[in-house]
Amino acid sequence: MRKQIAAANWKMNLSQNEAETLLDQLLATEHSLSANQEAIFAVPAIYIPLATQKLVGKTNVYVAAQNCHQKDNGAYTGEISASMFASVGVKHIVLGHSERREYFAESDALLAEKVNAVLAIASTPIFCCGEPLAIREAGTQNTFVEAQLKNSLFHLTAEQITKVVIAYEPIWAIGTGKTASSEQAQEIHAYIRSVFASQYGQSIANQISILYGGSVKAANAKEIFSQPDVDGGLVGGASLVATEFAAIINALK
Ligand code: PEP
Repeated sequence: MRKQIAAANWKMNLSQNEAETLLDQLLATEHSLSANQEAIFAVPAIYIPLATQKLVGKTNVYVAAQNCHQKDNGAYTGEISASMFASVGVKHIVLGHSERREYFAESDALLAEKVNAVLAIASTPIFCCGEPLAIREAGTQNTFVEAQLKNSLFHLTAEQITKVVIAYEPIWAIGTGKTASSEQAQEIHAYIRSVFASQYGQSIANQISILYGGSVKAANAKEIFSQPDVDGGLVGGASLVATEFAAIINALK
């Protein structure tokens, strides 16, 4: 069975004290992970040492970065490379979140470079895709998302693509309280899997975890995650509340 993943995206939130309290509360909350399940915490880079130390020894629990630079090192003031994250034990990096695409003008081509950088050091890209509201209203979300995947990922080999985790996040559902219905999520997740199947074959496509993101919370996680092509979630707002995120972990298949 492919991996089922609950990934927290803290974004640019919390002071160090608040981050520590949240992790302590989460560790004190009832949650469990079976062998095929993972919990991943994409924390602000400055809190990576704190989170790593808090979560040390926890099985199937990982600390992630929210972004990285495409180059390995050099004169890129303020940036952090994938290999730097790996050197402090971080092996999962979120790439192409819609906020980065929108506010930092990250293009499909740039994201292809970042994906390469992450895979080059044997880390896992959590690659985000998803359409804005106008595209959903026009009914062209499948071709929109397909282009994002093709442009940033289709240069990868079959072996490489199985190392990528996909997060489908309709922009109209991020932080808005509007969630895609479980049928809408299943429909586009199945389509995304079919896109990979046509490029890499069905058995490779079946190995790729596809997470849903967009106002996932304790109250809707079970229903969304129960869909056959939904392999967990990338969670923003609700990941900042320990009881919410613990319930989301417990909702994994
Ligand atoms: C996200 O930031 O990736 C996200 C899905 O946010 P939220 O859960 O708050 O909609």
